[in-house]
Amino acid sequence: MSNSCVLVVNSGSSSLKFAVIDSVSGDALFSGLGERFGSPQACISWKVNGNKTEESLAEGNHHQLAIQRIVGLVDELGFNESIVAVGHRVVHGGERFTSSTRIDDDVLAEIEKLADLAPLHNPAGAKGIRAAIEAFPSLPQFAVFDTAFHQTMPKKAFTGGIDNSLYKEYGIRRYGFHGTSHFYVSRAAAQMIDKPIDQASFISVHLGNGASVCAVKDGQSVDTSMGFTPLAGLMMGTRSGDLDPGVIEFLLKKGWSQDKIFDTLNKKSGFLGVSGVTSDARGILEAMEQGHEGATLAFQVFTYRVAKYIASYMVSLDQLDGIIFTGGIGENSLPIRREIINYLKIFGYKEDAAANEKARLGEEGVITTEDSPVIMVIPTNEELVIAQDCVRLQ
Ligand code: ADP
Repeated sequence: MSNSCVLVVNSGSSSLKFAVIDSVSGDALFSGLGERFGSPQACISWKVNGNKTEESLAEGNHHQLAIQRIVGLVDELGFNESIVAVGHRVVHGGERFTSSTRIDDDVLAEIEKLADLAPLHNPAGAKGIRAAIEAFPSLPQFAVFDTAFHQTMPKKAFTGGIDNSLYKEYGIRRYGFHGTSHFYVSRAAAQMIDKPIDQASFISVHLGNGASVCAVKDGQSVDTSMGFTPLAGLMMGTRSGDLDPGVIEFLLKKGWSQDKIFDTLNKKSGFLGVSGVTSDARGILEAMEQGHEGATLAFQVFTYRVAKYIASYMVSLDQLDGIIFTGGIGENSLPIRREIINYLKIFGYKEDAAANEKARLGEEGVITTEDSPVIMVIPTNEELVIAQDCVRLQ
């Protein structure tokens, strides 16, 4: 264990993920999850050396109770001396935060103000930050924003085709999310091909429960598929992705409430909605093998849309060093990657079947043949980016 470990906190509305990351080796020394906050079943579980423990949380402010328990665990496990900072994943940094930032009263107030743009995420992030400041008063605290990497997008990429006063008045524009992941894998990809990142260009494809594509030109984000909210772009586990806005007007006229519409688009669409079976890619593939029609359609809609986004981002770049697959699906799912590569054959892409089979469970590698442009699989590591940013900014 080095003396540069960081407690990384990812605080959601009803959950809080945490990990102690060694910023030098990249190892997670200890990680866990508080979940079902706000309910009588609230609990916290953690893993050390492969052993898992779970405890229930008492009634009260569960973000605070979870952080207090983490303080106790850090002490019991002897990590106190080696933790030098607390790093918080914050979903929305708006236009103000273009990079990771040390948290002070002004920064915290600004994160809370951005709740207008991320009503589900930023208040929960702020709750975790407040609890951590109280629990670790002597440690510096940093915010790492999901949107920050995309702040280099040019106006033509982030401006919507709508009345521009909506941008000026309300900040309606494309922000993009998953920035920390696209940042990490594009750097790792540049290392893999031995090219300086400021001369390397990639299309980064993060496919997890949430999914997005990002065009990275000379190391910088120039376009990405998530938008004003994380609902835009690709079809996801339960999110619809891009949809004709006219559908919303139509459903409103049919008597659907705003809540019902947005609940459907966020939680009952995507893999789950199209298949009628599950939001989980593995479940979709299993059902498809048994000939389930909905699951087969969900697989087709998903892969086709990913391929369309990849193809469209060719125009954002002057040259392309590689397409990167990452996220739970991108890192593991051979059939989904195979189908996407197949759609890209017009550009000369050819799958190396053996390499595609091998790249899973944390194994990185190039999965195309030698006479094909490059596609690679790179496991993402957002926690490591957060830990390293904290140590760098300390
Ligand atoms: P999140 O976006 O919540 O971080 P992940 O990146 O962990 O999610 O991705 C979760 C998705 O990855 C799920 O749809 C899951 O089925 C899929 N996945 C994980 N492992 C595999 C695997 N071995 N094969 C296919 N899909 C997988």
